[in-house]
Amino acid sequence: MKAEVVVVDKKNPDPEIIEKAGQILKKGGLVAFPTETVYGLGGNALDPMASMKIYAAKGRPSDNPLIVHIAELDKLKVIVSEIPEKAGILAEKFWPGPLTMILPKAEIVPRETTGGLDSVAVRFPSDPVAQALIRAAGGFVAAPSANTSGRPSPTMAGHVEEDLGDAIDMILDGGQVGIGLESTIIDFTEEVPVVLRPGYISLDMLKETIGEVKMDRGLLITDSSVHPKAPGMKYRHYAPKADLAVVEGPEEAVIRYINTAADEAEKKKKRVGIIASAETASRYGKGIVRSIGSREREEEIALHLYEVLRNFDSDEVSAIYSEAFYTPRMGQAIMNRLLKAAGHKIIHLSQEEEK
Ligand code: AMP
Ligand code: MG
Repeated sequence: MKAEVVVVDKKNPDPEIIEKAGQILKKGGLVAFPTETVYGLGGNALDPMASMKIYAAKGRPSDNPLIVHIAELDKLKVIVSEIPEKAGILAEKFWPGPLTMILPKAEIVPRETTGGLDSVAVRFPSDPVAQALIRAAGGFVAAPSANTSGRPSPTMAGHVEEDLGDAIDMILDGGQVGIGLESTIIDFTEEVPVVLRPGYISLDMLKETIGEVKMDRGLLITDSSVHPKAPGMKYRHYAPKADLAVVEGPEEAVIRYINTAADEAEKKKKRVGIIASAETASRYGKGIVRSIGSREREEEIALHLYEVLRNFDSDEVSAIYSEAFYTPRMGQAIMNRLLKAAGHKIIHLSQEEEK
């Protein structure tokens, strides 16, 4: 199967195209589509066969549940058995938007969609193409990120085609996404709501809205004794082909460390990849240097992270070094993805090493 790639106008999607894509989903097929976070691989969430097709197309372990996307607030009560008050408050404030809530599932949601769990992850995306497609498909679209399992999530249609072009029916090309990192996931099945995956909506924004919110311990402690609760967060993910290490510390020390590593690689006739910021890119002399964006604009860094990781896959690099990006608001989400891509390999440089 070769996916049909169709360009859609983001603000004003052609109803005929949407109708055709909706029909594919209704018949049990798979359509990739843009959302404000990353591209999603959609199938009918209420059709167990469609969910199984999603796992197969992505090569995703089937214990890793899918997020169900809705396009009307009213549809929430169809697929969950209970809406805690605080979940209602978050829905009012952040939907449509990059927030996923884990709630107890209703009978109608097949276990194939929820990876065998009694809870279901739900999101109401803000992207107009996504919304139109979800409505055309009957209201419930299961959609994980539209990448091959383990690869960086797609932020443009070309990435989807690269990974899944031969495995799905259609790709709606709505251009580059807005945010570039997957949604924040908050779990309401515990006494105190827990963030299972950081995203554009930060822990502080959630706390300001509903009070106490915890961060999943599995995200904070990176040793192997504590597993993250979201099944998908335990897999090595977002990873480029070459080994990646994050180098953290005072700016001058980081630049010197990476330049030395690039020099040494060159002596062995090898090349390293370097993920720099707009401010530091010109300070690296060897290797393939890619700027991820300005430290002054963290949205830029979030938007380019996966693209930069993916681009290194087509270069012959023996290793990749990245600066750390602890930016004020999205830093938690950016560093979570970057460290996962690095398999948690981080090199800490102290003040000492700067001298
Ligand atoms: P993706 O579909 O690639 O955006 O990943 C969805 C993420 O949500 C994965 O990390 C899943 O493990 C997580 N997830 C989905 N449903 C649940 C659930 N019911 N409980 C816990 N985590 C979930
Ligand atoms: Mg994913």
